[in-house]
Amino acid sequence: MKALRKLKPGYGAELVDIPIPSIEADEVLIKVKATALCKSDIDVYNWTPLVASANYRLPLTMGHEFLGEIVEVGNAVRTLKVGEHVVGETHVPCLRCKSCWNNNMHICDNMGVLGRSYQGSFAEYIKMPAVSAINVSKDLPPKYGAVMEPLATAVHALMKGQVWGKPVVVLGCGVIGLMSVQLAKLLGATRVYAVSTSLNKLEKAVALGADKAINSRTEDWVQIILDETHGYGVGTAIETTGNEGIINRTMDVLQKAGTCVFVGMIEGGLNIEKYMDRVVYRELILTGIFGRRIYETWNVLNEYLDSGYIDLSNYVGAEMPLTEFERGLKESSSLTGRVIFYP
Ligand SMILES: [Zn+2]
Ligand SMILES: [Zn+2]
Repeated sequence: MKALRKLKPGYGAELVDIPIPSIEADEVLIKVKATALCKSDIDVYNWTPLVASANYRLPLTMGHEFLGEIVEVGNAVRTLKVGEHVVGETHVPCLRCKSCWNNNMHICDNMGVLGRSYQGSFAEYIKMPAVSAINVSKDLPPKYGAVMEPLATAVHALMKGQVWGKPVVVLGCGVIGLMSVQLAKLLGATRVYAVSTSLNKLEKAVALGADKAINSRTEDWVQIILDETHGYGVGTAIETTGNEGIINRTMDVLQKAGTCVFVGMIEGGLNIEKYMDRVVYRELILTGIFGRRIYETWNVLNEYLDSGYIDLSNYVGAEMPLTEFERGLKESSSLTGRVIFYP
């Protein structure tokens, strides 16, 4: 089968022919119908310092956001059948560590990760443990299924940020930032401020329900939000930029006892100036999210999709065959939706 693989450390990846994988008793084999390009795939392609310092085992098939059809199930799998459609939960829990037993399967102590410790979805077939294959309707177009995993990430971030009844700021309007804007409104935020430096992304944020889109390159976003909130600021910030300067100023735009949810990757460390005054004396809550709660987040997302509140076409930016992955990588940063590859 065709697979886009990272063969060696350093920049790049190659489309190669490899055998269709054989499955273990607890696994399923899935024919990939559509797969989306995530920022983390681009980081793997570029071999950023963060990726280089993580222990990726090469050669590795990239990709983890996908919808596919089950073509084979292992002997021990009781929950899934051949012919069913699934999307991938990227995190694979062991089900027997302390975190799993504490209902934190998504940050399992022995966690497997698709496209990292498991071979990924930029291929004609992917095999994975059944525990992380999420059943979806056969009527769901594959390209929409492929954007459910990042959308579920945003659901987890917004739920953790407890946004209902509060003004919220979303920092950065990449795809997960844009998803966060829409979800903040759905989950009952009173006002949503979207902050970005990209005009087309700010426009999209407004289309998705942002009450105000602020260009942080040309406007004083902190002052604007403070003015509009009677000097109090927002109850929750969703941070997707990973930018130290933005993060420092976020501390000033949060209400006392407000929450900052960190979603974006931060290269190296993070230095917050005047930490006691800004964070400790104001009792700010700084928290991160990693992945999606298994399976609570998926249940909530499915409810929203079922009720027709979310139009997944908003989050598809471009579609192309996997053979054109280089074009997809180039185009992705300026798009307001995911690049979808068809293997
Ligand atoms: Zn991803
Ligand atoms: Zn575990």
